[in-house]
Amino acid sequence: MSHWFARIAVFIACVALIAIRAPHGHRSLKVAIRKSYKGALEKALLPIAMLSFFVPVIWVVTPLLSFADYPLRPPVFYTGLGCYIIGLMIFHRSHTDLGTNWSVSLEVRETHTLVTNGVYQRVRHPMYTALLIYSLGQTLALPNYFAGPSYLVVMTLLIAVRLPQEERMMREEFGAAYDEYCRHTKRLIPGVF
Ligand code: SAH
Repeated sequence: MSHWFARIAVFIACVALIAIRAPHGHRSLKVAIRKSYKGALEKALLPIAMLSFFVPVIWVVTPLLSFADYPLRPPVFYTGLGCYIIGLMIFHRSHTDLGTNWSVSLEVRETHTLVTNGVYQRVRHPMYTALLIYSLGQTLALPNYFAGPSYLVVMTLLIAVRLPQEERMMREEFGAAYDEYCRHTKRLIPGVF
């Protein structure tokens, strides 16, 4: 199977992720940040995560990473496409439900409210679930040992570090309401974890 299928799919997925985030990010930026909870590890990992998002784009538009290419197998590629689509759908839904409460890092905005409806009824971190499914899709759809899993590795690390900090921050801000919300929801996978 030609790598061009993968090149086109990876490029469209990257553009779709940016296109989904752009209007929500723009709206959120208009609401001032009341308090930042960014720790040293978060400050170090966030720029790495942002850079790693563009590694697949480098693979798409340049031959720089071709030394790590491997043959594209259709069943693996199509499974990857499925993950991409599911990941992007949940990503869109979670951005819509979170509204202007969204932030690229650990921050609380002036008009911050605790969202427990929509996809947030199912899990506490649907956007992270979406990004993990998306990056798993990329690992499968992009036949390159380096560019394929790069975003998945970095996002898994960032989310593992961030989850406990984010939950501590939300508990500090919303107290009993957040505890109650935690009693009814799992973190990333409904009913499991
Ligand atoms: N962890 C969530 C949100 C990611 S965006 C998810 O995966 O869907 C990160 C920001 O969202 C955090 O800085 C926090 O301010 C905000 N946030 C996280 N959970 C929230 C919730 N249930 N309601 C409102 N804001 C939330």
